[in-house]
Amino acid sequence: MDLTTEVLIVGAGGGGAVLGIALSKKGIGNLVLEQAGGPPQGLRGEILQPNGQMLLHNLGLLDKLPPEVSKPVRFFHFLKSGGERLCTIDYEMLPVPFNRALVMWPNVVHHTILDCLRQENPHGLQFKATFKSFLREGRDIVGVQAEIDGTAVQIGAQVVVGADGPFSQVREAMGLPASLHRYKDSYLVAALDSPEDMNEAQYFVGQQTILGLFPAPNQKVYALYMVSSDSLAQLKAEGVISLREKWKTIAPNLATIFDSFVDWTQTAYMGTGRVRAKTWVMDRAVVMGDAAHGMNPHASQGRMQAMEDAIGLADILEHCHKAQDWSAHALKPFETARRPQVTMLQQLADEEVFFWNTGNPLLGMLRDRVFRTMDSNRRLQYQVLSATAGLRTTAPFGWMDRFQAAGFLPDPRADRIPVHTPLS
Ligand SMILES: Cc1cc2nc3c(=O)[nH]c(=O)nc-3n(C[C@H](O)[C@H](O)[C@H](O)COP(=O)(O)OP(=O)(O)OC[C@H]3O[C@@H](n4cnc5c(N)ncnc54)[C@H](O)[C@@H]3O)c2cc1C
Repeated sequence: MDLTTEVLIVGAGGGGAVLGIALSKKGIGNLVLEQAGGPPQGLRGEILQPNGQMLLHNLGLLDKLPPEVSKPVRFFHFLKSGGERLCTIDYEMLPVPFNRALVMWPNVVHHTILDCLRQENPHGLQFKATFKSFLREGRDIVGVQAEIDGTAVQIGAQVVVGADGPFSQVREAMGLPASLHRYKDSYLVAALDSPEDMNEAQYFVGQQTILGLFPAPNQKVYALYMVSSDSLAQLKAEGVISLREKWKTIAPNLATIFDSFVDWTQTAYMGTGRVRAKTWVMDRAVVMGDAAHGMNPHASQGRMQAMEDAIGLADILEHCHKAQDWSAHALKPFETARRPQVTMLQQLADEEVFFWNTGNPLLGMLRDRVFRTMDSNRRLQYQVLSATAGLRTTAPFGWMDRFQAAGFLPDPRADRIPVHTPLS
């Protein structure tokens, strides 16, 4: 072997880098391989939900983010395309102190996480390092074959973690059955200028139309615009002015913001997919994050769930380390603990895709009825919000709730929201 470590992590994305930190804090040897040449750059809208804030706070990282890189947002307004308000979601219903969403400047959270990883484990992160295959003794995985800076390297490890995203090569090398679904709708993200300080998010839904506008730091606004996955080239061919005019029709009250859209370099394309791996573990190998359960961005939980995985897996790997048992049996409690929440979020996001993205007028009418009910029904509003905020593992709506949300049944408990204690 050219190198050895105890836990070999493939991928320094949202999940792998946090796992490296959590293991280093526990004194467990680890090495993170990342194929990219350095930390990510470029545009991507990013919202830190309350569970992500709490997790970063517990790692001592939330306070390290300078205030000017995040924008706390309390109100999310849902409106019909054209401007009629349907519903307002109020994050202050959630337990303090993380009762807001944080809209972040692109990549700062990730850069802060990578800096922390370097501090906790100075030689624990290797860029330009690509996983190629497993090294085996007989049938046992004993490490990986990787390429670092173009050189083939053999790395011995007790366990290999695939934190390498939706198209995971580690998952493939493990031979885990997985279904990969590509949604027909994707998103164009754009960074626009906000003329005056905008503090509340506005999310427009219409017939096959979604346009979200999120106030961001530095007087910017992120626009999230639904485009069908194969129509980007056509959209660009139609030109910037044409898109600007479409946005003005959807959100006439925000027309001045759209005038700051002048060039496609202000935009990034965000493909959408869902991953369902049948099992996440085998003897001496495990997948996590998008490699195990990538989900539609409607859940607003992709990065949060990868980080939740990292913290959960670090605890299980600590048990494995103490017992020197890296079997599938020893790793399985990680999957057992994490599956309910990610499965629920995948289902919730898919229901939102079904109703929010629809071009069917009847489904659109139902969607609008549910939004209108939620506007005055704090119980149902709380149940959905607490799922998006990453604070529950069970589905927000049962069957009775669905009938009540659609306005077919009265809800005598509409004003009741749980009394909660502060989150820590
Ligand atoms: C444009 C965009 C915007 C998004 N915005 C949000 C958002 O606002 N909020 C949110 O919660 N989620 C968002 N997501 C989803 C979120 O980024 C993912 O769910 C989250 O990053 C998953 O973390 P992960 O560690 O599992 O995978 P990733 O973050 O994808 O990390 C995987 C890493 O593995 C590396 N890798 C892959 N193959 C190899 C290999 N063979 N060898 C070595 N390294 C390898 C990759 O380079 C990558 O760095 C967004 C996704 C995209 C694409």
